[in-house]
Amino acid sequence: MKILFLDQSGKPGGAELCLIDIAKPYRDSCLVGLFVDGAFRQLLEQQQIPVEVLATEAIKVRKESSLIQSLSSVTALLPLIAKVAQKARQYDLIYANTQKALVVGALASFFSRRPLVYHLHDILSTDHFSPTNLKVAVTLANRFASLVIANSKASQAAFLAAGGRSDIIDVVYNGFEPEVYQSDRSHISQLKTQLELEGQFIVGHFSRLSPWKGQHILIEALTDCPKDVTAIFVGDALFGEHDYVQQLHKQVAELGLADRVKFLGFRSDIPQLMAICDLVAHTSTAPEPFGRVIVEAMLCGKPIVAAQSGGAIELIEPGINGFLVPPGQPHQLAEIINTCHDRPEYTIAIAQSAQEMATRRFHQTNIDRQIAHLLSRTFT
Ligand code: UDP
Repeated sequence: MKILFLDQSGKPGGAELCLIDIAKPYRDSCLVGLFVDGAFRQLLEQQQIPVEVLATEAIKVRKESSLIQSLSSVTALLPLIAKVAQKARQYDLIYANTQKALVVGALASFFSRRPLVYHLHDILSTDHFSPTNLKVAVTLANRFASLVIANSKASQAAFLAAGGRSDIIDVVYNGFEPEVYQSDRSHISQLKTQLELEGQFIVGHFSRLSPWKGQHILIEALTDCPKDVTAIFVGDALFGEHDYVQQLHKQVAELGLADRVKFLGFRSDIPQLMAICDLVAHTSTAPEPFGRVIVEAMLCGKPIVAAQSGGAIELIEPGINGFLVPPGQPHQLAEIINTCHDRPEYTIAIAQSAQEMATRRFHQTNIDRQIAHLLSRTFT
């Protein structure tokens, strides 16, 4: 099957990392069309996945855009839509991986008469989007997509609640290659030394820096934890949330936590960094559509505590394969950190059963099979 994948981003967020895995089995007969250049293109090239930057100008529409802004940006998109429609004629289907890719893909699908798949990596609610953008996404998906793949039941439920068609949507979780998450012991101690973290109880937070990802909740929680508890924040402000970054640094200084918090920026060695952690914390204050980091921590054999909302609820059974705390509650988060700190045998056993479960449930081979099945069921 020849697939034209579309993604609006040049930066490797969760949706983009997932797309790399989805596109791999199709690398001999697909193209990933991007709307902007960036590190994501290089990652695709490293995996020998054909990629081309299709847009010549940045697309300005934002998640919170009004109707007028959205309409004027559609006008600005016309050359890109024409280019995608022309490319699409060489492929069997268009696979839109993000919201702006859906807008372009839907119209290109109409002009090129190629079917459209929409991979929904978002919770389509007003927590994340303006009412206008919600309406545009659901209307286009209902009208043009033959198949919508939601990355969790939470994303599926939000799509249906926003008026999405139930006959076109299926859930497929993100897939992972478990081998990637194995690290050797000597590397772990080297990295700890390099980061000056020996003897610390390390809580890792792996996410772009953004208010709804809730880094501030973990910082606040540290004030209720013993002094050997240190947090590492891995990730950058991918979408211009620089005020929030400043706010985080201010919070650390005001709480006197400068020697217990490290910001490591965007990193590509996530499995190695997770391997040095004693606990991984996921603190989103709005529902997380899926939460790749949760599964990654499990695959690394690390205990995970996550905010009890969105996709996280589908991934974690509290006390069995991880811990859940109400979103935005630093004191309750601190209680879990302290339990993990004080009862390592108990939490290590939970992490081990999570690792076994995640290896089976999210294995890339199973996920590839599910996607191939949906595509062949819908298009042959
Ligand atoms: N990630 C990364 N480098 C970083 C921070 C995060 O590669 O410095 C990865 C992380 O391991 C995960 C993805 O980015 O695979 C984030 O996905 P998630 O579903 O957790 O959140 P999203 O970015 O999609 O909101």
